[in-house]
Amino acid sequence: LLKVDSVLMQFGGLKALNNVSLSIKRGTIHGLIGPNGSGKSTMMNVLTGIYIPTAGNVLYAGKSVVGSTSSNIALSGIARTFQNVQLFGEMTALQNIMVGLHHTFKSNLIEIGLHLPAYLKEEREARKRGMALLKFVGLEELANEEARNLPYGKQRLLEIARALALDPELLLLDEPAAGLTAPDIKELLRIIRKIRDSGVTFILIEHHMDVVMSLCDTVSVLDFGQKIAEGKPAEVQADEKVIHAYLGA
Ligand code: ATP
Ligand code: MG
Repeated sequence: LLKVDSVLMQFGGLKALNNVSLSIKRGTIHGLIGPNGSGKSTMMNVLTGIYIPTAGNVLYAGKSVVGSTSSNIALSGIARTFQNVQLFGEMTALQNIMVGLHHTFKSNLIEIGLHLPAYLKEEREARKRGMALLKFVGLEELANEEARNLPYGKQRLLEIARALALDPELLLLDEPAAGLTAPDIKELLRIIRKIRDSGVTFILIEHHMDVVMSLCDTVSVLDFGQKIAEGKPAEVQADEKVIHAYLGA
């Protein structure tokens, strides 16, 4: 589904990603791990059009996404969450999801020249779909709470629900378990598996090794911007280079 080909991402003299290639099969969960500052979030930013790589290419479903805008990439089926939760704090949980839906509806409206009754119908449908997504992540009772008032674990689930609003084929999660309690993590794992079972492909950045071990089909390890290992989670965890990278960090 996704092929990252020899990507270089340079910030001044710093090579945040140095010749990194990845290949992600449809329907799998791919872990992206590595010490702090190794380039994991930078990779996600390249995949979602926030950064344009200095060199190399990214093919999604056979087409290059390099140079596409973030919103076109999202519409093409790649959704994400952020390392630091990025919700609209003063909007309700439901409104946070509807924002994403509106974006698609509005562009449709312009394209096919619909008018107000149709718009209102879209609005109703967006609300329905938003509620269904909230239910999917177990937040339906909190639909009208302001996002900033939700417990942190629920905010992370809300971000995932919002990412799902665009019906992605590929979902990128940047440290979804960070800062969560053990029961929150359990709930997160259940939801990620449920999404995976519906056919979505994942790239998961994660520091919690138990989460990586239990969820991922394959794992890549970055260190100082370079890929130093790749394989099944257990193989990677036992890899000398990987152990060394984490000890040195
Ligand atoms: P963490 O586990 O701490 O989140 P990470 O693996 O996600 O780390 P990145 O955020 O990708 O690390 O950062 C990789 C390197 O690139 C770091 O040295 C960082 O300072 C640098 N970097 C990232 N974005 C920029 C930028 N916009 N400008 C300059 N340097 C950047
Ligand atoms: Mg990061």
